[in-house]
Amino acid sequence: MRDGILVINAGSSSIKFSLYLSNGEEKPILSCKGQVEGINVAPHFIAKSPHGAVLNEQRWPDQPDLSHEALFKYMIDWIESQLGDAKLRAAGHRVVHGGSQYSYPLRINDDLVVELEALVPLAPLHQPHNLAPIRALARVHPDLIQVACFDTAFHRSNPWEAQSFALPRKLTGEGVKRYGFHGLSYEYIARQLRQIAPAVARGKVVVCHLGSGASMCAINDGKSVASTMGFTALDGLPMGTRTGTLDAGVVLYLLQQKGMTPKEIEDLLYKKSGLIGVSGVSNDMRVLLESSEPHAVEAVELFVYRVSRELGSLAAAMGGIDALVFTAGIGEHSSEVRARVCRYAEWLGVEMDHEANERDAMMISGIDSPVSVWVIPTDEEMMIAKHTREVLQSVKS
Ligand code: ADP
Repeated sequence: MRDGILVINAGSSSIKFSLYLSNGEEKPILSCKGQVEGINVAPHFIAKSPHGAVLNEQRWPDQPDLSHEALFKYMIDWIESQLGDAKLRAAGHRVVHGGSQYSYPLRINDDLVVELEALVPLAPLHQPHNLAPIRALARVHPDLIQVACFDTAFHRSNPWEAQSFALPRKLTGEGVKRYGFHGLSYEYIARQLRQIAPAVARGKVVVCHLGSGASMCAINDGKSVASTMGFTALDGLPMGTRTGTLDAGVVLYLLQQKGMTPKEIEDLLYKKSGLIGVSGVSNDMRVLLESSEPHAVEAVELFVYRVSRELGSLAAAMGGIDALVFTAGIGEHSSEVRARVCRYAEWLGVEMDHEANERDAMMISGIDSPVSVWVIPTDEEMMIAKHTREVLQSVKS
């Protein structure tokens, strides 16, 4: 009998799921995926086949405030109806924060939930939503093996200086340090690169995860050594709606001179800045690339410029660069952004093959380019499914 492995990625207004089937030997096979979105506003459930065909869709127009728990139950009941001859054995959760200590996925028990709860102050916008479905699943399925996969885990190999702010030691000791995020995506890319080009994967690689959330990671011989995200997922590159790196003095100015409240500043930095803040047009890179509005043009240029500067910084952290990888929505689909970043990176030895870039080929650098350039689609859900299956197999054996 095949094992059903459920992957859950829960946020404040949506719960995404992917159901994988595994016979223990090959890689898990995606069976269906979907989400509940619009929680507390206009809940909407949709499930699709791996090829995108809609399998089920449901709205609750008379119950806009239907609880998280009720929606989650609807989702689980529907998923169970799809199992066929498989049995749901395990659930893997994307958990944003694993603190300083966790560098690998863990089987969840009551003690771990308490520990992860203690990390809520470090990620108040995400961690509570990640933990809610863990508790809900434990109630309906007490026998299910649940696994926490941390977005911070891959970066625990960073050296001390990459994880530290120049703050007094006491604060560092309390956990105010650089954790890095998007770790599941980077781990997936590192594993893919090892299969596609093993010699390249042993070298110095910078991966650009350019989605609506965006970050970059320096990976040396498969291990993360530095990344652009820090204490929170607000650091580093400008994103769809987030500022990226900001002089902390700006926050003081907003507080002291403009009299803004912490909540107003949070809204500004997380939801009203980045591409939408600079362009005033959209947080979607596709819209900005097609727009001739001067502020939209500047937003794209600022984004490309920031990626290019961080590239220099990450190359410096490794003492060089052998390969550059683009991934996530913008990285996988925008030949223009890739071309512009590669133009900035010529000083590092990047020579792009423009024809290959235009057709989204896997390798988009020229044959003699000292630095090879790659486009590799990411799949964080698959990474969680693989980790969860590994834990499941260790429990079985
Ligand atoms: P998320 O961080 O939400 O998972 P994705 O990795 O799916 O985001 O990336 C979403 C972003 O990718 C969109 O906001 C859009 O700006 C960008 N994107 C998708 N396709 C293209 C494209 N063809 N050209 C430029 N940008 C694109």
